[in-house]
Amino acid sequence: MVVIGAGVVGLAVAAELAGRGRSVIVLERSAAVGQGISSRNSQVIHAGLYDPPGSLKATSCVRGRALLYERCVRDRIPHRKLGKLVVAADETECSALLSLLSQARENGAGAVDWLDAGDVRAREPRVRALAALASPESGIVDADALVRSYQAGLDARGGDVALRTEVTALYPRSHGWTVESSDSEGRTVCVDTGQVVNAAGLASDRIAELAGLDVDELGWRLRPCKGEYFSVVPSLGVLAERLIYPIPADAGLGIHLTPDLGGRLRVGPDATYLDAPDYRVDPAKATRFADAAGRYLPELRAEHLQPEMAGIRPKLQGPDGPFRDFVVEESSAHGAPGMVHLIGIESPGLTAAGALAEVVSGLAG
Ligand SMILES: Cc1cc2nc3c(=O)[nH]c(=O)nc-3n(C[C@H](O)[C@H](O)[C@H](O)COP(=O)(O)OP(=O)(O)OC[C@H]3O[C@@H](n4cnc5c(N)ncnc54)[C@H](O)[C@@H]3O)c2cc1C
Repeated sequence: MVVIGAGVVGLAVAAELAGRGRSVIVLERSAAVGQGISSRNSQVIHAGLYDPPGSLKATSCVRGRALLYERCVRDRIPHRKLGKLVVAADETECSALLSLLSQARENGAGAVDWLDAGDVRAREPRVRALAALASPESGIVDADALVRSYQAGLDARGGDVALRTEVTALYPRSHGWTVESSDSEGRTVCVDTGQVVNAAGLASDRIAELAGLDVDELGWRLRPCKGEYFSVVPSLGVLAERLIYPIPADAGLGIHLTPDLGGRLRVGPDATYLDAPDYRVDPAKATRFADAAGRYLPELRAEHLQPEMAGIRPKLQGPDGPFRDFVVEESSAHGAPGMVHLIGIESPGLTAAGALAEVVSGLAG
């Protein structure tokens, strides 16, 4: 079995399948594992508040969170269950908060409590809100250590990762695929396999095309959407102990405040649809970020923010488009048997990876 992509999802899938006795090789075009979306995100363990009940995003987030906390303890992956507040700044946002509360309960997001302004002040004195939801199940994780733990799981079960190996073509065989790739010296390498898992993140629609699928017809064309982050200068001290999120907006979850495991704070990400990959952070956005986060952190000013990094979401949902779920699908019905595709694995993909691996394992037989 060939898995394309050594991000958190590809490695979780590979480790799961190897654990079920399959012989697995992961092909990764970069020089190291986990250098794609998996290294450029908020590193938040989501409880399962945000997605519609019954969607794969919601179910895999809730199941994946449980698996992730277990894995963190077992493999000593740095993490903290520090909890989250989703804050409402005005009356209109309070009604959005109520909807979020009932959705969270339906999703099984664990305890979620309603806080009034006084409760918020008591927990987070430097945060201003009219009301908030408290989600104690939310946390943060060292994403790089998580990726390495899946890789170690794969190694221990006899699987392997081939780095600097970019998949360039897929040819169907009578029972499976010939996967053609190019190695670091430009040599072409071919692997014959019964099954392929496409976990290529931002290139997963391209890989589906290589398998002959019409991604536009299937609605699998990705719409890359960039999110930039700023770090908060340490001189402001501990603005909050918990993750602080606004009401979700537009294509993202809103510009939030995330403490990292080293105690540093950052704000972001925003959401900008892109035509071409671009990881620059625009320093001129500091004012907009300070205004957005300043609604709940009144001390924050643009001069407190420094450009940090950017990530790109592999979105299926276009600007102003309706909700799109994760695609995890075996493609026999589309004329490409022996292949499972994971497409549109944006947030909460880091949290959900272990659960998505279970789903793929069910589909890959
Ligand atoms: C700004 C942002 C914030 C986020 N915050 C969170 C969060 O707080 N919590 C959360 O749960 N999730 C979050 N996510 C989502 C999460 O990061 C992703 O869902 C997850 O990392 C996706 O992992 P992946 O393995 O699918 O993709 P990737 O990590 O990108 O892995 C795909 C791999 O495929 C490789 N590849 C591509 N093409 C080829 C090819 N032709 N041949 C060989 N290899 C190839 C790439 O090099 C890459 O390594 C966030 C995402 C973004 C962008």
